[in-house]
Amino acid sequence: MSDVSVTPPPRLLHLLSPPGGDVLMLGHVHPDGDVLGTLLGLGLALESAGWSVTFAGPHRVPEVLSFLPAAERYQVWRAAPRRFDVIVLTDCPNDRRTEGLLEGARGPGSAVFNIDHHPDNRRYGTVDWIDPSAAATGEMIYDLIVALGLKVTPEIALNLFVAIHTDTGSFRYSNTTARTFRIAAELTACGAQPAVVSDWLYQRRPEEALAELGEVLRRVQVTEDGQVAWITVPRGLVSDSFMAAEDLVTYPRSLASVKVAVVLREEAPGVVKASLRGKGDVPVNRIAGRFGGGGHENAAGCTLSGSLDEVEATLLAAVREALAGPRS
Ligand code: 5GP
Ligand code: MN
Repeated sequence: MSDVSVTPPPRLLHLLSPPGGDVLMLGHVHPDGDVLGTLLGLGLALESAGWSVTFAGPHRVPEVLSFLPAAERYQVWRAAPRRFDVIVLTDCPNDRRTEGLLEGARGPGSAVFNIDHHPDNRRYGTVDWIDPSAAATGEMIYDLIVALGLKVTPEIALNLFVAIHTDTGSFRYSNTTARTFRIAAELTACGAQPAVVSDWLYQRRPEEALAELGEVLRRVQVTEDGQVAWITVPRGLVSDSFMAAEDLVTYPRSLASVKVAVVLREEAPGVVKASLRGKGDVPVNRIAGRFGGGGHENAAGCTLSGSLDEVEATLLAAVREALAGPRS
């Protein structure tokens, strides 16, 4: 059952109502603030209502997000150890992004709740609640917890605030709306402290981080017309923790003339992860979609096969083509 709405579908509310049961809160690859904040926040809320909650995903919590309440309970699995009656996925547009964990945990009778704000969500759940108007899945989960009549504790508030803070680029991106601020205000009233979040996210860099940033920023390239700026990051140039903690694509995007910014990171030999950002001129999720990825109009990603040089040429050509073409 699919539902595109700004309020939680009644069926979801019904199925998450008491008496509760056994639930897996399942994350996707390379978890970020929105997926972790929503899984942990909703999981803690369900636990307060009597559910038995397991948090897990294919990759570990990045160091920079280890301050999230209950992050220490997030397990890293190569394979699902058993089946679960209920599985909740948040901020996960594509069931392939769990590296097989969903298939392993899902039995014939399992209820799978797919809660997301990506417009290209694949609707793989038993209940799909998709709201592309939400800046972050964190907004949806806040409304869900309130609709379930559960208390938003300071721990839950902090998780959801981080979800929204990170997906809106600290409330700066075009997805930020009055609803975003309304929910952020309510989360602050419930005990989330914005300054504490900024401190954890931006003021706890290790000493080598600035040298690594310098190394990477030296590599920024810009097209002659100034419309595209990009950075390639070969494997081993900087530490993985640096990559997980820094929103590198912010820098090429910050140039005035830039319409599309790209970071290409060599993840393994022959495997390159691309992060694309736009400013409203072309929908970058369509570019990412051409290579099997996706995302939002102004923030998208994909993974390509090939050497860093090959992928750079392929992706840049696609970006130029998109900028040259008519906006449809
Ligand atoms: P990032 O560049 O920060 O990794 O991702 C930006 C946005 O694009 C996020 O909304 C993320 O969900 C989406 N995204 C990134 N990589 C992929 C991908 O490989 N496939 C899909 N479908 N979406 C992606
Ligand atoms: Mn998100």
